[in-house]
Amino acid sequence: MHWLVVSWICAGCGRQSVSELQAHVDEAAALLSAHRGAMTAPPVRVVSTAEMMLSAKSWFDAYVTDDQRAATDCATVALGLGPRGVGMMDMIVASYSRAAGVFQPADGAILLHERVTPGQPGFEEVVLHELVHARQHQRFDLFDPSAAPLSSDAAHVRRLLAEGDASFTTLQLALGNEVDWVDLDAMGHRPPRRGEGNELTRFVHSLVTQPYLLGPPAVQTLRRDGGWDRVDALLAKPPATTEQLLDPSRPHDPAVSVSLDVSSALGPEWSAHPSRTLGAFELESLLWAWLPADDALSVALGWGGDRFQCLEHTDGRAGFVWRTAWDTPEDAGEFQRRVRLRRRKALLDEARRGDDVLVWAGLPDDRASQILEAAWSTP
Ligand SMILES: [Zn+2]
Repeated sequence: MHWLVVSWICAGCGRQSVSELQAHVDEAAALLSAHRGAMTAPPVRVVSTAEMMLSAKSWFDAYVTDDQRAATDCATVALGLGPRGVGMMDMIVASYSRAAGVFQPADGAILLHERVTPGQPGFEEVVLHELVHARQHQRFDLFDPSAAPLSSDAAHVRRLLAEGDASFTTLQLALGNEVDWVDLDAMGHRPPRRGEGNELTRFVHSLVTQPYLLGPPAVQTLRRDGGWDRVDALLAKPPATTEQLLDPSRPHDPAVSVSLDVSSALGPEWSAHPSRTLGAFELESLLWAWLPADDALSVALGWGGDRFQCLEHTDGRAGFVWRTAWDTPEDAGEFQRRVRLRRRKALLDEARRGDDVLVWAGLPDDRASQILEAAWSTP
């Protein structure tokens, strides 16, 4: 399930009765209602690890089409993150299924893992966190798959908002309602250690965990500047791009609409997946996986728009073209510099025209110039 709290619960804790758990949930819902406005206490269910996994999988299946899985597989190979068939989507499902609790929009219920028990450290926080998601669903219908296909910047916007709101609201209630501003760094909201694992696990880890790290400071800033009304207004009508949430303290230029379709320039035996936008958040995650560096976020904040297209040969080879637009020539130059650093590790090329940078890899030699011209000139 997408919406979960990152707190791993101890093994070997005793089982609990559902009525006792429901009483805790009802009490916490009353607390949250007083803090953020009336909500209905959702039903709670106790589930095993296997049931948690099934919930995560069914949620993903509602979001992800076979075409999207194939395009993700192509991108995994083309970006040099891993071999074909490694199943990045399955890795994401597996990481969600380790959650202590999830909110399940399909039936409006909170699922708690059977090892989660009242009185245990973190229990109240898990319940509050999932209740905030229940409120988001009841008041704003934040989890409608048709509003934001998975792997879209719009879906990342919703995750940043949902996890930022849930984590920050829970922290505030845990510290007492009077707390206006929390030093999130001092509370341990630091990025995970960088440079661990291979590039694919780092990318997946970043996509899964960054909303819990980048979302709370964003929601905290929104609340400080405009109160809870401002946060609720964005939950009702999410911002257009993740760039606006990665640094909500300053205005951002509207995203540039980038078009990209090189399918007409491909030779026989090559095919192209539909192009898609990565957006500032996914670009930041990719930079973090590719080039472990603490300033991936500052590079991503120069993002102006992008479009990525994955290409496949019938023999299994994969390539890609990725057209990116930047706020200023300096931002474009900074991104170009990162791509050149990456080139030391992987076959990859780039070229810049003004504020735009084109990145590519794995193109057929005899068609490369036509493909690149098609990428630059797609209307
Ligand atoms: Zn959550």
